[in-house]
Amino acid sequence: MPAATENLIERCREIVEDLQMGEVRRWKEQNPGAAAIGYFPVYAPMELIHASGFLPVGLNGAGDRLDLQYADARFGSFICSIVKTTLEMGLTGYLDPLDGLLFSGICDSARNLAFVFQRNFPQKYVDFLHLPQNPSSSASAGFLKAEYLRLAAQLEKLGGRKLADDALRASIAAYNENRALLGDLYALRASNPHQVRTSDLYLLQRAGNFLPVETHNEWLSRALADIADRQAKPRDSVRIVIEGSFCEQPPLDLIRLVEDAGCYVLDDDFLLGRRWFTEDVPAGDDPLGALAESYLDRSVYSSVRHDFRHRRHKLLVEKARRLGADAVLFLIAKFCEPAYFDYVLFKRELEAAQIPHLLLEFEEKAFTFDRLRIEVETFVESLLFD
Ligand code: SF4
Repeated sequence: MPAATENLIERCREIVEDLQMGEVRRWKEQNPGAAAIGYFPVYAPMELIHASGFLPVGLNGAGDRLDLQYADARFGSFICSIVKTTLEMGLTGYLDPLDGLLFSGICDSARNLAFVFQRNFPQKYVDFLHLPQNPSSSASAGFLKAEYLRLAAQLEKLGGRKLADDALRASIAAYNENRALLGDLYALRASNPHQVRTSDLYLLQRAGNFLPVETHNEWLSRALADIADRQAKPRDSVRIVIEGSFCEQPPLDLIRLVEDAGCYVLDDDFLLGRRWFTEDVPAGDDPLGALAESYLDRSVYSSVRHDFRHRRHKLLVEKARRLGADAVLFLIAKFCEPAYFDYVLFKRELEAAQIPHLLLEFEEKAFTFDRLRIEVETFVESLLFD
């Protein structure tokens, strides 16, 4: 890989691992008076936040970089790490650069987290976005558009800038470009997995949580051009699809471990909200309406959104077949109910399709992966020498 791309990925790693959110602080210094809004996974309308003059900042917890001192006292024991470490970040000042926080009802834990934040941070703008639960209802798009209008009015109060259709169209275009670039990188990895490590692609993508989308687009374009030109030697590896990491993110070392144990990752659902739409959002005359319709009709499947029009268990099998995957690896966060509920159905469908799979459970705060390494290596060997 050219040194320029290596440096870029190293810069992404620094940004992602910086709990102080130095990149967000720098942006605020360079844009006096401008504010930043943090959004919890999985899906948030970044376009709307951006068009209102804010920097949308993706929240993904604190990984293994923060000891829990206060957050444990606000939750029961059986709660995933991302919920606890996100609250710990708030209680220990790491979320101070953010002027507001946005949550949605992806699961009971995330829903509760929103209201724990409201209770503990009465001085901060904390909002809860109600996403429609029934995509086949004709009322859903209108409901979501009304919810976006409500959110826009709150952001207007906070930032003093009215949401203008032209600004929203420009933001939609910028995020369409972002998704297209990520899509190109994902497609490149799927066809030539030896040309880009998944851990590098992950860092490139996740750094976008803290960068203005225009800057992120520029970085992704540079990386794409470099990676496409790269000459690398293929190695003997098992081709897999990763499922189950749509919200809490596996530790970076675990992603590296999976690759080093002999897996080519053809697709994954890391940071899924950044790639929510499967095609461009058509901004048109009614950009807010288009954003709402796209949530329902131009979107990826997810364990935190029930859509009976498209059975996600069948979609996973289709994806694995389309990409020519040898197996599916489930990387599921401990105590993530939506992922575990779905796993039962995914497992049944994969077994019927005779596609092997392995389930690994992770926590943000994991220091050694010896047991997981043995499991992946054994799985890879069983596939290679079957
Ligand atoms: S990791 Fe799972 S349980 Fe935890 S907040 Fe995300 S979706 Fe909910």
